[in-house]
Amino acid sequence: RFITFEGGEGVGKSTQIRRLAASLNALGVETLLTREPGGSPHAEELREVLLSGGAKHFGPFAETILFYAARDDHLNATIRPALARGTWVLCDRFMDSTRAYQGVLGEVEPALIRSIERVVVGSTVPDLTLILDMPARDGLARVRSRGAAIDRFEGESLIFHEKLREAFLAIAEFEPRRCAVVDASASQDEVAAAILGVVRR
Ligand code: C5P
Repeated sequence: RFITFEGGEGVGKSTQIRRLAASLNALGVETLLTREPGGSPHAEELREVLLSGGAKHFGPFAETILFYAARDDHLNATIRPALARGTWVLCDRFMDSTRAYQGVLGEVEPALIRSIERVVVGSTVPDLTLILDMPARDGLARVRSRGAAIDRFEGESLIFHEKLREAFLAIAEFEPRRCAVVDASASQDEVAAAILGVVRR
């Protein structure tokens, strides 16, 4: 099984993905936890290129190509071999982040993103995508309160982050069979329980 976690800044993806991995392991399910951009040696090199310095140094089109180059390597080197072994793959961000960040926010043509997606992702579409959702203002407050490294988009306006949230919700509405929206503003335990419930179903 292939499960991806998506959502805006500060929604708690990395905490919740670890909790789901622990719950699955306790049930005897072998899991691989990975993330994007990155997740394989070459893709991690591209992550450095994409995220270093906290600045946006590429335009949205170049970013789309670079994120997809990284994703192609991640799929071939890490995700597909694990799925082939029967391991469950849990991935922090995947193709929907490109649709939202580069597509909706970067205004890269949806048709272009779809065609690259078809070629690179092919049939390795996630079985389930958990979209962690909360008001952008609260997500940003969480990022700031933990004093985390400044994400490259953290300095953008609230409107930008609300648009990002809407982009993820629109994906969920467009593909309701693959996507489940989880209220990420609840407590950590409640969110973890909600996620486990969706996965069990
Ligand atoms: O997962 P995390 O929130 O740590 O994402 C790392 C950074 O990469 C974030 O700043 C996110 O905004 C950015 N990103 C992006 N385009 C993607 C995926 C992630 O700009 N397709």
